[in-house]
Amino acid sequence: MTENKVKNVIMPEEWFSVLPRRQYSYFIRTESADSWFSVYRIKPDIYAIYEDGHFQEVISYLITGTESALLLDTGLGIGNIRKVVESLYDGKIQVTHTHSHFDHIGGDWQFEEVFVPDHPVAINRARRGLDHEEVKDNMEAGSNWKPYPVGFDSNSYLIRPANSFKTVKEGDVFNLGNIRLEVLETPGHSPDSLMYADHENKLLFTGDTFYPATLYAHIEHSDGSDSSFETYRKTMHRIAEQYSDYTLITSHNEPFRPGIELIKVAEAFDQISEGSLTYITDDKGLKKYEFEDFAIVTK
Ligand SMILES: [Zn+2]
Repeated sequence: MTENKVKNVIMPEEWFSVLPRRQYSYFIRTESADSWFSVYRIKPDIYAIYEDGHFQEVISYLITGTESALLLDTGLGIGNIRKVVESLYDGKIQVTHTHSHFDHIGGDWQFEEVFVPDHPVAINRARRGLDHEEVKDNMEAGSNWKPYPVGFDSNSYLIRPANSFKTVKEGDVFNLGNIRLEVLETPGHSPDSLMYADHENKLLFTGDTFYPATLYAHIEHSDGSDSSFETYRKTMHRIAEQYSDYTLITSHNEPFRPGIELIKVAEAFDQISEGSLTYITDDKGLKKYEFEDFAIVTK
């Protein structure tokens, strides 16, 4: 059932008109060593490294423990995220991923080594990166409001390969001393999607599997990094069953969400499956289903 048609369901016009998002007023704004990133201390030991200049509004996180720190994702690769994290933490910093979409692996090349999901798609991308043709859509006019850093050329934007990498899989634990993060495999948005759970503090880093905006269940890529609606639906049910009393920390737009929302998302996937909901469609034939504070895009 079609509701109406728009040009592009992914990048809304005037996307930046909602900035700054209200939630950031609760956090401690922290000096950023590279002005492309806005840095906020969102908990005593967690920094959100937010690329609010670009419509993806991706957030990478630095989690600082007593023994070491963990950088969760490296962002778009537009600014120097290594410089930012090294100015925030004086000690060993490991780098890992929530998944291998371009906006989470862009700064990998700045580090000697990164951890990637133990999945062929992630391993392939760590080895070859993504060329300009694969990512150029994200550099379209209107996709940024902050000027790009000096030296950055959007006409040759690409994702460079990692210098070296190791893999992580379900059940692996990053031990930062006083903080432990367990890896959960949560395929759907991408085949290699991971979440990271801090059970002691009841925190769940959800990557792109859940954030308070349009969830992508439609992605297709020639290297196999495709979304799967049905896999995504099952993942949401499994995660909702176990983690709805955790605080969610998401990878786009705003950090915090209550875990109870996982149940709403799982139910939303069911409702779409049933086929009775209205949706918005666009020039590419994508379908966007809108819910209270998130939406789901499918093919
Ligand atoms: Zn993303």
